[in-house]
Amino acid sequence: MMTGASRFWLSERRKSVAEDDRPHPKVGAVVVKDGKVLAKAHRGENPKSHAEYVALEEKLSTETIAGATVYTTLEPCINRNPPKICCAQRLVDRKVARVLIGMLDPNPDIRGLGDQLLSEAGIEVQLFPRDLRAQVKEMNREFSLSGTRKRSGKRERPQQRVDSDATFQHLLSELC
Ligand SMILES: [Zn+2]
Repeated sequence: MMTGASRFWLSERRKSVAEDDRPHPKVGAVVVKDGKVLAKAHRGENPKSHAEYVALEEKLSTETIAGATVYTTLEPCINRNPPKICCAQRLVDRKVARVLIGMLDPNPDIRGLGDQLLSEAGIEVQLFPRDLRAQVKEMNREFSLSGTRKRSGKRERPQQRVDSDATFQHLLSELC
């Protein structure tokens, strides 16, 4: 057991060092149910924890969030080293109804896969309205450029409108 645990921590440490050399995305997540904000979280609030993880598992671990809407500035991740569970899977497990995404992952190798995992689980996935997507993109310019150096030629999803909502502004003001 010790060996497995030490290997895990070693790999975590290696990963965290590597991560510091790369631009970090600014990620925020807000969970809303029945018109009420249940939790807000952002990356860096808890070191090495993704925003969705902090919101779902640290702040709302005992709440029923089935049917909730989750706003997240970056497409939920689909790859985490075990035993970590990826954010997209956590959203599925907690049975949220809708996920609104500020920007798809700029890495062409995984871009759209979080969206796909959620959609296939029956979760409604939408993108932020165009103006807010532009703000998210601008906030994450450095991160986006680092992820799109090799261009895949894939086209961006067509714009989908959602009702503008104070939640977006909350979210964005927390991130700036
Ligand atoms: Zn994640």
